[in-house]
Amino acid sequence: MSQHPGVPPATTTYFGHRTFNLETMRAKLPRNVYQAIEQTIRAGAKLPPEHAEVVAHAMKEWALEHGATHYCHWFQPLTGTTAEKHDAFLSIDRDGTVIERFSGSQLIQSEPDASSFPSGGMRATFEARGYTAWDPSSPAFIMTGPQGATLCIPSAFISYYGSALDEKTPLLRSVNALSRAATGLLHLLGHAEVTRVITLLGVEQEYFLVDRALFERRADLVMAHRTLVGALPPKAQQLEDHYFGSITDRVLDFMQEVERELYALGIPAKTRHNEVAPQQFEIAPIHEEVNIAADHNLLIMETLRRVAKRKGLALLLHEKPFAGVNGSGKHNNWSMADSLGNNLLEPGRTPESNLSFLVFLVCTLKAVHRRAGLLRASIASAGNDHRLGANEAPPAIMSVFLGQELDAILSAIEREEVNPSGDRQSISLGLAQLPAIARDNTDRNRTSPFAFTGNKFEFRAVPSSMPVAMPNAVLNTAVAEAIDEVAAKIRARREVAGDLEAAVWAVLREEIAATRAIRFEGDGYSVEWAREAEARGLPNARTTPDALAAWLEPSNREIFTRYKVMSEAEIDARYTVRLEQYVKTLDIEAKTLLRMTRTEILPACLRDQSELATSYSRLVEASRALDLNDAVAPAQGKHLAAIARDVTALLAATDALEAAIGGLHSQGSPEAEGRHCVDALIPAMDAVRELADHLEGRVERAKWPFPTYLDLLFQN
Ligand code: ADP
Ligand code: MG
Repeated sequence: MSQHPGVPPATTTYFGHRTFNLETMRAKLPRNVYQAIEQTIRAGAKLPPEHAEVVAHAMKEWALEHGATHYCHWFQPLTGTTAEKHDAFLSIDRDGTVIERFSGSQLIQSEPDASSFPSGGMRATFEARGYTAWDPSSPAFIMTGPQGATLCIPSAFISYYGSALDEKTPLLRSVNALSRAATGLLHLLGHAEVTRVITLLGVEQEYFLVDRALFERRADLVMAHRTLVGALPPKAQQLEDHYFGSITDRVLDFMQEVERELYALGIPAKTRHNEVAPQQFEIAPIHEEVNIAADHNLLIMETLRRVAKRKGLALLLHEKPFAGVNGSGKHNNWSMADSLGNNLLEPGRTPESNLSFLVFLVCTLKAVHRRAGLLRASIASAGNDHRLGANEAPPAIMSVFLGQELDAILSAIEREEVNPSGDRQSISLGLAQLPAIARDNTDRNRTSPFAFTGNKFEFRAVPSSMPVAMPNAVLNTAVAEAIDEVAAKIRARREVAGDLEAAVWAVLREEIAATRAIRFEGDGYSVEWAREAEARGLPNARTTPDALAAWLEPSNREIFTRYKVMSEAEIDARYTVRLEQYVKTLDIEAKTLLRMTRTEILPACLRDQSELATSYSRLVEASRALDLNDAVAPAQGKHLAAIARDVTALLAATDALEAAIGGLHSQGSPEAEGRHCVDALIPAMDAVRELADHLEGRVERAKWPFPTYLDLLFQN
């Protein structure tokens, strides 16, 4: 096709060009090897070692064509980011010749020195061994650098004794658990031809962009990725003029470069737009199988970061970078599909398929109801604590929004208004409406943390900076448990009554009644909801330390071990690492705030005060000569006194913050440290911030030591 000069190539001409995907493998591998690897990817079968040798060779040749000099196992330790250790293909033969080598065993397994990754006590530091193991279900890709490329091999990260040290392994295990449970239920419902169920995920990623030069002048942004002080200018987001607004050239240039890179990596970026807050944006790819989508979300975050830097911008993935305007989250769009390609959360054309839709819908309700505490724990972080329950984000209370009509249908089923003992005609009519109802489900309730949106659930409380693996591993496991319970109940009733459909209806009714407390159609931000939720017995963990305690509950732990998603030790590790991360984050934030206040804000305020004092004393000296009236000097003195009082209060608040920081490490246990953060450190930080923000509004602008919200959010 002829190309106009200056017009970029069509996406389809280079999509996935930097991935060793199935298409590339089909072209590069012998037929039997290709078939074996396809089997490995589709069904998780083990790849015979001799085939691994062939795959490794083809992968290396392909990577060399792309300019790769090194390879790495790309994995997801519990740090919340990705990790990679590069090795050159370079090797020296026995006769001294330099060659490029990459063996099957190097592809399949690597042994980085893992001693410095957090393991939550699973692996003592002296025992550095941890393995990364190739995950063939996620395509290897080429990461380009300034002077060459690296072949990245998506991997799991496992200790010497087989414990998962990463985010990915539990997710992969949960996918299998859900598949087994859902396939079993489908068989029971008469869909014998289904062999497997997959989990689909589409992640909407929100982020902020600020000018890099301004970013670098703020220690809080550099250290904590959020502003620890800063007053909102008179205009923030109240006019709602940023949401879906026209995208500036500077930002569009950034977005387009990001998309080019993502397309080359085979990541189907689909939507881009301005979000509600100034300088806030969103990118969303088309949904994919959950483990791929989770990897891709990490690559999206990484790509956003790299391109931002290249473009003189800084990316903020933090959940609440600026006080007073919206924070960022990820909307985790989740659904299940069977091996025939049917979305299990999509109402079908026949009443029978709608019956199975209702069963899976109710199973999901049951899962969220039963494991609300765990779901809350899976999204808990210091950053997300600022967002959950704030005005723009879903509350920390887990509930499910179905939309008025679907909600009404479930209530009708519960009241036996739609049931198999009634005439068939009316049931069919009732069920036949479902597809239209689900499609019309446009009354989006933005205040719900977990909303049904037509053919999927949107888990909206997921934090913007966190990998999505754990929230989805928890969700999958909870749904697997609910499905198995529902299936067992249906079987038991069928034994008694003999009729499958009657058994299904009876169980549906029972479960709809039992899970009613988790359904909420109203305003999740309202105070009344918090009260009502409490009356309904729904957990409301307001802080991360409270939320994480769900990992300690025996019944929560039992489902992970029963479904072989995580062992006791693996659960403890997640709990410990998350709690440590919370405490470390707050420690860093508090120390950064203390330093900014002492070394930047107070000196600026004191300079301002000193100038005012000089001006005041000169005024007093000159007042007689100038023949000023009696009101002048006291009025100016009052202005000076107000600043002096605020500065004095800030000095005291700074000392109190220092004391609170000092108290953190004498607490004795991670739990006590977490409590200390909530009870002492955060209030001390808030007190400093309030005074500093107040002074920001009084002190001469030119003296303020770093860029303000006005500079960061409105002057780009
Ligand atoms: P909105 O902002 O209206 O919710 P977006 O288009 O921004 O919609 O994002 C919706 C996300 O949900 C996309 O990633 C999309 O691919 C994903 N999605 C759509 N259908 C499904 C499904 N059946 N399962 C999982 N994700 C889905
Ligand atoms: Mg959405």
